[in-house]
Amino acid sequence: MSELFSFYGRLEDATDAQKAELADRSTSADPAVASRTAAIIQRVRTEGDVALVALAAELDGVALRTLSVPRELRQRALSSLESPVRRSLERAAANIESVHRAFLPRASEIEVEPGIIVGRRPDPLDSVGVYAPGGRAAYPSSVLMGAIPARVAGVSRVILCSPPGPDGLPSGIVLAAAELAGVSEVYAIGGAGAIAAMAYGTQSVAPVRRIVGPGNAYVAEAKLQVSGVTGIDSPAGPSELLVIADDSANPDSIAREVLAQAEHDPRAAVVILTHSDGSALEIRRAIEVTLATEPRRAIIEESLATRGALLWTESLEHALAFSNGYAPEHLLLALRDPDAALEQIRNAGTVFLGDTSSVAYGDYMTGANHVLPTGGLARSYSGLSTLDFVRWTTYQRVSAAAAIDLAPDVAILAEAEGLPAHAAAARRAGEGTVATPPARRARLAPRARATLRTLSLYEPNRAPCALDLSDNTNRWGVPPAAERALRDVEAERITRYPSVYTPELKRALAEYAGVRADEIMAGCGSDDVLDSAIRAFAEPGDVLAYPDPTFGMLPLWAKMNGLVAAPVPAPDPRSVDIDALLATRARVTYVCSPNNPTGLALSRSDVERLVERAAGIVILDEAYAEFAPDGWIAEAPRHAHLVVARTMSKAFGLAGLRIGYAAAAAATITQIEKARGPYMVGGVAERVALAALCDDLAWVRTHIGAAKESRTRFRAELDGAGIPSLPSDANFVLVPVADAAAVAAHMRAAGVAVRPFPRLRGIGDAVRITVGPSPMMDAALRALRSAVQR
Ligand code: PMP
Repeated sequence: MSELFSFYGRLEDATDAQKAELADRSTSADPAVASRTAAIIQRVRTEGDVALVALAAELDGVALRTLSVPRELRQRALSSLESPVRRSLERAAANIESVHRAFLPRASEIEVEPGIIVGRRPDPLDSVGVYAPGGRAAYPSSVLMGAIPARVAGVSRVILCSPPGPDGLPSGIVLAAAELAGVSEVYAIGGAGAIAAMAYGTQSVAPVRRIVGPGNAYVAEAKLQVSGVTGIDSPAGPSELLVIADDSANPDSIAREVLAQAEHDPRAAVVILTHSDGSALEIRRAIEVTLATEPRRAIIEESLATRGALLWTESLEHALAFSNGYAPEHLLLALRDPDAALEQIRNAGTVFLGDTSSVAYGDYMTGANHVLPTGGLARSYSGLSTLDFVRWTTYQRVSAAAAIDLAPDVAILAEAEGLPAHAAAARRAGEGTVATPPARRARLAPRARATLRTLSLYEPNRAPCALDLSDNTNRWGVPPAAERALRDVEAERITRYPSVYTPELKRALAEYAGVRADEIMAGCGSDDVLDSAIRAFAEPGDVLAYPDPTFGMLPLWAKMNGLVAAPVPAPDPRSVDIDALLATRARVTYVCSPNNPTGLALSRSDVERLVERAAGIVILDEAYAEFAPDGWIAEAPRHAHLVVARTMSKAFGLAGLRIGYAAAAAATITQIEKARGPYMVGGVAERVALAALCDDLAWVRTHIGAAKESRTRFRAELDGAGIPSLPSDANFVLVPVADAAAVAAHMRAAGVAVRPFPRLRGIGDAVRITVGPSPMMDAALRALRSAVQR
């Protein structure tokens, strides 16, 4: 046994009574606190501001002249903060805002039956009060955690009460945090009096609809007592941490986490569940070593000795079951595969995945809310969020046709409940047609997802044309081995299902790309691969950033997936604004190199900077990389945040097969495959692509060389004709023109299809022309010349 912990031993050896004692973190209410609190609330209700000033004199020992703290003083508090503290608070505030904005509750509607629409909309509360303790318990981080989500939820009046210090003002750092969080009014009022003032209102303080924030026993009791008139948050008890560790966890990190939690409060509860007695011993030793020099050692020792436990079990299942019963405020999964364990977690305030995810980061900086249920309340409650600051309004609309249909069933139920007036109302709305059920009416169209309703179907102009140079496919024909494979395709490739995730094709693609087979995935064109990669890493509401101009599918994919599109203007047609892309802090950043439609490849240093610094994942589309000096595909798996996509549609001349692929770290590839689903590459396509990868590489290389030569010659001829074009690393050339639509129409009439781009940002109108063999380029030049001369 170890006297350091109240429990030390094998989990399975603990009796039910011991487990129950450990899980019981209830605090007994003090009847004296309840009656004193009730008296304070009554005084504030009857005497208002007079009672608050008197309470400040009695309890805080200050003579207040006013309760309200003017804006100038709050601004001064913020500007006099030391700059490192201010910078950290600002970073915390920005992250809290990003997280809570991303998780805002959303309105939705459903057509229950044809003509019956039911909707639900989150409406912000009109006012919220945040309480912040004073003195040694003044925590600016809690001010941010209460006020910012309220403001993000749309609450227009967010006020703050905090007890006055000797100078009659709340602590400077609380005032500074209030200013940073956008609080609209601040009052120097503390304790139960503040809660009463915010609930019932006084001459100075208008009442609020919900009160949140931590406080002492009187504050907690006052919130309970006013909960009949205003909303409150769940009571905050002593903090808690449960750690589940396996042999991948570092005992020193675990020890640090344990001490950090236990130093909060002698009543803080810390439980560690590890996989073996040896590991328990290591963790205990690490705690003992560090504890010796801890400034708050006495508090830590009391906490561990009363509510601390160090247990071991070989069974992760048992550890997870214990955790779900315990329902900790903070849960740290210091496991090799924390994501798999997370799937089984039901009751926890917030979960930290892996032993590098220190609880301290969540307390201050990740942007997740640190106001969390304690004492086992995580079995029924969640942490503070924007949901606490809205209320739902539902609405319902019943069309005339649907009313006729509903009336008889409603009347039957109303009569069964003995409410004849209800039955009559239902029949009246259904207008006397109740006896004869209406003939079957045409049903309304089913309602599609909101994101799709405003989206029109993608329809490029693909009308046939004698010479099509509009889509950047290979104009030299089909690679010979692919053609043979197509002719000889085995019947089984057609009668049977294809492979689930194309393992054979992966091996061949991996060899071609210079990566391992588990670092590559194939899809139905790179379109499918790119869309799946975006979906794998972005939730609806997240930002998808990309340079403008770039591949035209990006806005479409943003819309299809419910993402916020962030097009970032390029400073000039030859570059990409990496800093502006980074500044979006997007969940997914897309760049295309060589870029479609401008043609130029990104510099290595630009890609490096983007990949190193991007907040989320970077998708590099290399659809045209074979025509450029180099690419990133072979390096992709070594960069955790990079996905490189390529295609067999361009250099291989196999656009009709629809084979695209992506390389990335193996774990990333798995997520993309999950997002796109199984059986997406047809068996015939897989067979033909395999043949091309095995036997057509020489053919492909020859024609890549031919395309590059043709590109150089075509640009020189354009120059000679006085038609400047953009330099290109791809198998197309972008030519600025005065009126793209008119030029493309004229060229089409002359038998040459090209792709018009009206109003490209930073370029203006332009046409994009695929390069092919010389005779084709001669025809293109003739048609273009005649079009621009008109
Ligand atoms: N990326 C870029 C930049 C493209 O231009 C294209 C097609 N024009 C694609 C991806 C999609 O190609 P696929 O789906 O045929 O692989």
